[in-house]
Amino acid sequence: MRKAEVVVVWFRRDLRLEDNVAFYHAVQSGYPILPLFIFDKDILEQFSQVEDRRVQYIHEHIVKINDELKKYNSGILCYHSTVSQVFEQLTDNYLIKAVYSNEDYEPQAIQRDREVASFLQRKNIPFYQYKDHVIFRGGEILKQDGTAYQVYTPYAKKWRSLLTENHLFDYSVGLEKALFHHFQSDIISLEQLGYRSSENRKITNEIDLAIISTYDQYRDYPGIKGTSLLGTALRFGTISIRKCVRIALKENDVWLSELIWREFFSQIMYLYPTVEKHCFKSKYEGIKYRNNEEDFLAWCEGNTGYPLVDAGMRELNATGFMHNRVRMVVASFLVKHLLIDWRWGEAYFAQQLLDYDLASNNGNWQWVAGCGCDAAPYFRIFNPTEQAKKFDKDGSYMDKWVPEWRELYYRQPIVEHKFARERALEVFKEGLKEY
Ligand code: FAD
Repeated sequence: MRKAEVVVVWFRRDLRLEDNVAFYHAVQSGYPILPLFIFDKDILEQFSQVEDRRVQYIHEHIVKINDELKKYNSGILCYHSTVSQVFEQLTDNYLIKAVYSNEDYEPQAIQRDREVASFLQRKNIPFYQYKDHVIFRGGEILKQDGTAYQVYTPYAKKWRSLLTENHLFDYSVGLEKALFHHFQSDIISLEQLGYRSSENRKITNEIDLAIISTYDQYRDYPGIKGTSLLGTALRFGTISIRKCVRIALKENDVWLSELIWREFFSQIMYLYPTVEKHCFKSKYEGIKYRNNEEDFLAWCEGNTGYPLVDAGMRELNATGFMHNRVRMVVASFLVKHLLIDWRWGEAYFAQQLLDYDLASNNGNWQWVAGCGCDAAPYFRIFNPTEQAKKFDKDGSYMDKWVPEWRELYYRQPIVEHKFARERALEVFKEGLKEY
């Protein structure tokens, strides 16, 4: 039988059909499109819990894309396999004219794409990759002397000065104009993948304009719904970053600054991949952390006796989300008050956060620990009680997650603030001196 001629659109961190650069270019090719998604066995090994909110989120969006494509007698071809096996099989079954995908800047993904590129090259199949996940990829925003920015403020200034209309182009194409390969796809179930569905809080991929327009006023108060909650959508590309920036430019400049932080950390991970495992500022490798496992467990479970820290950790455990202000407080508490290596906290967040993103998580943990580029100085130690008074004045956030915090019998703090502060200053000073 003659093989069908197709172009493959390989979806990864861009789980949407709207305003998707790779999909747009595949449509322009004029060949029938074969949409593809791979539940990569090599990656799923890292998601070992039976209930994983992220796998469930991805699954839901693949089903959604598949349902949308059914209207055009098509679907998304979905595999549970390794990437190399899938491409072997696809090239056996189809006459592939080209493969289209959007760039992914994480070290593991870059390696995977290199291998796919060389496999496809051996078969004479072009592999087109596009910038879709960010406005500026690593290496596009550089200092006058050609080196990378390691400080956010000048980076953001340059980012803004280089932004043009072209960067914000809307790549949406009417699906009725696209030519799809006709087939029927049944998406493998979550259970077949080895997961169980859990109650997934509804995760938005819609922009709430009322929130964005008042973002600068309310973003710091965890008891108020004052932030976009779009982290997960941005992570998995169920919303387009260009759409967010178009709206930020109109509605709220402070929100735009946050989107630029995301790109700042993305370029750091891309240009300095050693930060994945090591401190950006190597002298911080000299800090002698206590790494007490019992303290770590108390922190993970939200049992430190500091109600704001406990509220944050319990919110994280229950929902997969934590407000940014509280993320900073719990992270500082772990690293400074408990003297536990930031990598332990980073790994715990990586397991729990729905919006987990390697570059943003790592960048922010290193920022809090003082060892990152443009990081908070080591002597900046949040006082969790004062933070609660300032940012959760009426206690409504703590009431929600730690209802017993107002009671007399609420647990004793795991460590006294003043003592912990002085201990941290001492350990950091010594560690930085010795290295
Ligand atoms: P909004 O406040 O509405 O901001 C809009 C978007 O801008 C976010 O969705 C996110 O994509 C981006 N953004 C905002 N703040 C930051 C920031 N400081 N750094 C990078 N991007 C930012 N963010 C992640 O997306 N993934 C992570 O794994 C992650 N880990 C973090 C770990 C720690 C210790 C800390 C202090 C922060 C972390 N952040 C992370 C940044 C920030 O807390 C979240 O992006 C934010 O809370 C998500 O809520 P939102 O979608 O309502 O964001």
